[in-house]
Amino acid sequence: MSSVPSSAPQAELDRVRWIDTIPYWSVHLVAVAGIALLGFSWSGVALAAISYAVRMFGITAGYHRYFSHRTFKTSRVGQLGFALLGVISTQKGPLWWAAHHRNHHKYSDQPEDLHSPRQRGFWWSHMFWILVRRHQHADHTKVKDLAAFPELRFIDRFEILFTIAYAAALYLIGGTHALIWGYFVSTVVLWHLTFTINSLAHVWGARRYPTSDDSRNNPLLAILTLGEGWHNNHHHYQRSARQGFYWWEVDLSFYGLKVLELFRIVWDVQGVPRHVRDQTAAPNRARLDVEAEDGTSAAA
Ligand SMILES: [Zn+2]
Ligand SMILES: [Zn+2]
Repeated sequence: MSSVPSSAPQAELDRVRWIDTIPYWSVHLVAVAGIALLGFSWSGVALAAISYAVRMFGITAGYHRYFSHRTFKTSRVGQLGFALLGVISTQKGPLWWAAHHRNHHKYSDQPEDLHSPRQRGFWWSHMFWILVRRHQHADHTKVKDLAAFPELRFIDRFEILFTIAYAAALYLIGGTHALIWGYFVSTVVLWHLTFTINSLAHVWGARRYPTSDDSRNNPLLAILTLGEGWHNNHHHYQRSARQGFYWWEVDLSFYGLKVLELFRIVWDVQGVPRHVRDQTAAPNRARLDVEAEDGTSAAA
């Protein structure tokens, strides 16, 4: 399946699919209307927070650090577990997510990047790129390693059924209160905090590493997204399961993975090599050029 139907005009591909995306906008409306009708409740906030944390872990540890970057290993059952935790976040399937994310790293903030605030503006990078026809489907040739598993292809294809099952389970357990807070409110927050990593984390924060993109480290986003806010660290070195490179860079997803490692549910959890972590300056071009003229190698 190609992400770009070649027969359609380019402008048409970048138009928001307003009709198809009615469910997306409706989740926002139901969340707001639900709070207005049911009233504020601390138990509701607690339920939304738990539902948020569990599913955000599915996105950060599962969709991002495992399926997109393969920064640790797990069993086939463990892999299935990460796929299920991710898919109930209502952010499409693991193949779709990983294929588009791998494109982001390949072309970060270059014209080919699917969601660069530098190229197409903040709101495009935040959510509109997801709502257009061009990115409706994933190019499975970018995720051959994942597409080899029939259970992952199944989850990817029928992703909406898993979300419906999750919402239905909340309703059966706790009625309308649990459905509104545990699914609708929680999902809206989950979406927009996930999206901030593609939008805000490329415009707001500090740049420790002179990467060719605009990625930033942002402590507030890191806390809220279970560690994903150390985005400049991550663009500097994608192979690490740990995105907070220092002990004071709180990375809850990494701590979660270390706990799962204790129980042998995951293993080979990759860290960042010290020399990569300490590589904070851009190579000094002038000095390299002088060395090259001297006849010595400029290559590190
Ligand atoms: Zn990444
Ligand atoms: Zn990025």
